[in-house]
Amino acid sequence: MVTVGVDRAVVETALLGGELGCPALGCGGRLAPWGWARRRMVRGEGGEGGAAGLRPRRSRCMDCLQTHVLLPASVLLRRADEVTVIGAALLAKACGCGHRKIATRLGRAASTVRGWLRRIGQVAERVLAVLGVVAAEFGTEFVPPAPTADPVAAVVEMVGALARAVARRLGGSCSPWRLAAVLCGGRLLGPGGPDLLLGPGGVPNTSWLWAGDP
Ligand SMILES: [Zn+2]
Repeated sequence: MVTVGVDRAVVETALLGGELGCPALGCGGRLAPWGWARRRMVRGEGGEGGAAGLRPRRSRCMDCLQTHVLLPASVLLRRADEVTVIGAALLAKACGCGHRKIATRLGRAASTVRGWLRRIGQVAERVLAVLGVVAAEFGTEFVPPAPTADPVAAVVEMVGALARAVARRLGGSCSPWRLAAVLCGGRLLGPGGPDLLLGPGGVPNTSWLWAGDP
């Protein structure tokens, strides 16, 4: 799975032009088009009724022949809600709101929101470690609060600080939560959190967030 930009045409051009690198560790091959992944419904800020169909592109590495789904930065792996909606919930939680109140505000089921908050609590340490690698690459002087104090607040602070740092470095602005989705490879709320495979130079391509993305 590879997290890419939300502009379909830009992603397609990059894929056809062999500009997308294989995410398999140590491969270095180029990805080519390989059909489409299963269609899924994604809910945006409009609440439960505002679902839209998304059919992610599938690709195959020309060297190792592994297939990889290209997931837009607006969504997370195996989550039906856009990452900006999930991010809004995490922000509200960091501000002291409970899951029921957040669910009402976002138009989601309380159990859905509770699931997000539980998971981020479980993987916060890993998320902070992954984002910390990127923060170091960007020279961000930011020490997040210890995750044991308030894991959700620590993640929210880190994501905000990174978005500001990236915007300062590259100009313009970006959605903090889409940035988090890219940096976590879509696994912000994955069962074990994001992969800790990022070494120096292994930072995902954040330029996607500037590729025609409002
Ligand atoms: Zn490969």
